[in-house]
Amino acid sequence: MFTRVPRLPSLLIIVGTLPAVKSGQIRRLGASCSETGSRYNRAMRPARNRRTDVGSPTPPATAELRSAWTGEGARPYTSKNLAAFRRALLRWYDRHRRELPWRKARDPYRIWLSEIMLQQTRVAAVVDHYRIFLKRFPNIQALAATSEDAVLAAWSGLGYYRRARMLYQCAKELVRKHCGRFPQTAEALQTLPGIGRYTAAAIASIAFAEPVAVVDGNVERVLQRLTGIDLTTPQTWQHAQALLASSRPGDFNQAMMELGATVCVPRQPRCPTCPVRKWCVTRLSNFNQGANGTITMERPASRPGGTLALNSSRRIKKEIWCVLNQRNGSIRLVQRPRKSPLMPGMWELPQLPQKRRPTWVPVAWRTFRHSITVTDYAVHVHRARTAKGKWIPVANISQFPITGLTRKILKAAGVI
Ligand code: SF4
Repeated sequence: MFTRVPRLPSLLIIVGTLPAVKSGQIRRLGASCSETGSRYNRAMRPARNRRTDVGSPTPPATAELRSAWTGEGARPYTSKNLAAFRRALLRWYDRHRRELPWRKARDPYRIWLSEIMLQQTRVAAVVDHYRIFLKRFPNIQALAATSEDAVLAAWSGLGYYRRARMLYQCAKELVRKHCGRFPQTAEALQTLPGIGRYTAAAIASIAFAEPVAVVDGNVERVLQRLTGIDLTTPQTWQHAQALLASSRPGDFNQAMMELGATVCVPRQPRCPTCPVRKWCVTRLSNFNQGANGTITMERPASRPGGTLALNSSRRIKKEIWCVLNQRNGSIRLVQRPRKSPLMPGMWELPQLPQKRRPTWVPVAWRTFRHSITVTDYAVHVHRARTAKGKWIPVANISQFPITGLTRKILKAAGVI
């Protein structure tokens, strides 16, 4: 979720007039930035609709904002001070980056694996899974040679299992068509299963030093705040590309993401410690500063049907009853249908049919809360006998792709 900032005018790159940015065109883009930036400085007015029309002015909302975009409180990045911006960000990254296992190598296999795992998953949740997965499948050949079930089993607990399936398909294609070697450009990488624009740019820039920018949620938020503009997706990619330090593209991309993850965070950005604050149009001016010095981003007004409404009233609530049946070191599990739209082929505890619950279900051993996308589940687990499913030896359970919920319950029960 990104926090919108008030629309401010561009003193820098007028993205609406920029040509599409390709690698190798950064120098030309810098010249273009300078020309359009100075033209816009004279106008000193924001666009009426920043997304589509950079030439329709509207007055600024307050004197405070006016001073921000007339340059009294900020020195936005331009083609002239880009080098200083890049240096400041890279210096900060070199000193303050988190030590993460995938940052120790430039091996495209490891970078690809970490990027897929990090999609929609927190870093803290990924670190252990990453190590275990790598131990089991140390290279692309090992991954391609295994079965899909083995990959799902190793992925168990990370959720969003489609990622694991695409990972496996991609590994097989890499071995079959590319002799197990990754293509070295973002464009070629995007032809592989499960690799989109972001992942391709991350692999190409970090592993092969191709000067292509990445945009994830963190980078998008940083750019929105740096520019003070409600950027469209294409504009965001253009800004990211224009900023990129082509001498160290992989480090620069990671620095932008790190900045968004650790400093320019959604609710309480740490502007006083930000390495690029002197280039930031938004810095502090649009934040509320509390008595204790904490800074809070103003929340956008809740709109009917907007994000805030989705978080509260549009979430779906469901209840599930399932059975934990354990005997002689084995446990009863059922496999979901291979064609199920949700977690196909994965293993879980047997569930009680909806109609029979009220009459014969005893008191639940324990109730778990579990959320998947927009649904919040209350999961009541009973220690009871059931004929559903089959006995799986607990010692072999790591070879089975079990669902995240099943893993959570088995851990709580001390089974695994
Ligand atoms: S100064 Fe504040 S708002 Fe601007 S980029 Fe840094 S942390 Fe984000």
